[in-house]
Amino acid sequence: VTGDTLEPPRAFNLMFETAIGPSGQIKGYLRPETAQGQFLNFNKLLEFNNSKTPFASASIGKSFRNEISPRSGLLRVREFLMAEIEHFVDPENKSHPRFEEIKQIKLRFLPREVQQAGSTEPVETTIGEAVESKMVDNQTLGYFIARIYQFLIKIGVDPTKLRFRQHMANEMAHYAADCWDAELKTSYGWIECVGCADRSAYDLTVHANKTKEKLVVRQKLDEPIQVTKWEIELTKKLFGPKFRKDAPKVEAYLLGLSQDELAADAEQLKNNGKIVFQVEGIEGDLELDDKFVSIEQKTRTEHVREFVPNVIEPSFGIGRIIYSIFEHSFWSRPEDTARAVLSFPPLVAPTKVLLVPLSNHPDLAPVTNEVSKILRKEQIPFKVDDSGVSIGKRYARNDELGTPFGITIDFDSSKDGSVTLRERDSTKQVRGSVADIIAAVRDITYNGVSWEEGTKNLEAFVTQSE
Ligand code: AMP
Repeated sequence: VTGDTLEPPRAFNLMFETAIGPSGQIKGYLRPETAQGQFLNFNKLLEFNNSKTPFASASIGKSFRNEISPRSGLLRVREFLMAEIEHFVDPENKSHPRFEEIKQIKLRFLPREVQQAGSTEPVETTIGEAVESKMVDNQTLGYFIARIYQFLIKIGVDPTKLRFRQHMANEMAHYAADCWDAELKTSYGWIECVGCADRSAYDLTVHANKTKEKLVVRQKLDEPIQVTKWEIELTKKLFGPKFRKDAPKVEAYLLGLSQDELAADAEQLKNNGKIVFQVEGIEGDLELDDKFVSIEQKTRTEHVREFVPNVIEPSFGIGRIIYSIFEHSFWSRPEDTARAVLSFPPLVAPTKVLLVPLSNHPDLAPVTNEVSKILRKEQIPFKVDDSGVSIGKRYARNDELGTPFGITIDFDSSKDGSVTLRERDSTKQVRGSVADIIAAVRDITYNGVSWEEGTKNLEAFVTQSE
């Protein structure tokens, strides 16, 4: 666009570098995701779960990425809140025991093939069908995709502005078996808000290789099996004289070789009579002949199956989700376009109830105090607006803040103890005793009851003005 010549590409580290310790000599990196802490603690987590899979862990915390150009409010920032679940499964059985419960849920998918064909027309189908047809790789991944959907809808995402987009092969991390993003439509376009990936056994394998700490599940077999494996034997008494202080390092390296590496070394030993290798921290090539090492295939009877579990990881960007909910909840009444309404579901609205005495008349104070006391006791967050402005203005102000309910106290309240309950989105009102009205608020807010259901035994209240 500017006509400037393009600079050649240059390497850029998306991780934040920092200096650790009093002298600042140790290089460190701020975590770009919370996941790794869970993998490092795998053995502890497995023990907590009686050494059985499947099981899951979850964490929430700050993550940091050295984004080239942070922008669009909460959507692209360098420090953000992330919540991640790591669900560990047997790689040979990725079925999910509760898949039945969610398999009828219909979702909009944007699979790889549709994107490749240059289309953004979603495929609408049930998650059951998507897994059956192999569009989604396995049941556990499908289960979490459906649960992400349920969660997002519950907290206020507009279902027409939600789709699941599959990663293209070149976009997916090299270790992932399949990956779907929950994308939410905002004024900035479709934004990835939750990633859901099958990360296979990648993370545990890499940590285990680097730390030499086994990160595996041991499963007792009903029937013992015959297993053929490469095994390495070292003539340790020769290692000291040859390698001196480096001997332990060389031994650890050799004992940590994978099956593939052992197979290749066995071949070298057979063909050349020696193996040639390098060890981190020791300069140059090292050589050993068959007096030092032997590598052979051995068949043994095993009573325990040992495997590295695979992990399904839903990863939530909290800021992005919150931002999208703000946009999806924000609208204006046609008759009052100057003011907005924020339709937060009662469950997530920070203030559930606006308490409005009709006027500052002292007769209304006892009922206001009584209702406040009950709401406090019930732990229902509320605010009192006893400012002098008209009741319509007070409602409108709180519609804009997303407060779902208004409880109004008028002169009849001081006589018969009844109050009015107003619903933010429909502006419908009902009348009843303080106890009944608060019970309705509690049921609708915390127990998933609809307004119609929750207020069906209360009387409709027709207001003179709003
Ligand atoms: P990723 O590991 O890249 O799939 O990111 C996981 C989740 O973190 C994404 O689904 C986003 O919701 C969120 N996320 C990633 N990068 C950023 C960022 N720069 N600012 C805010 N949220 C982000």
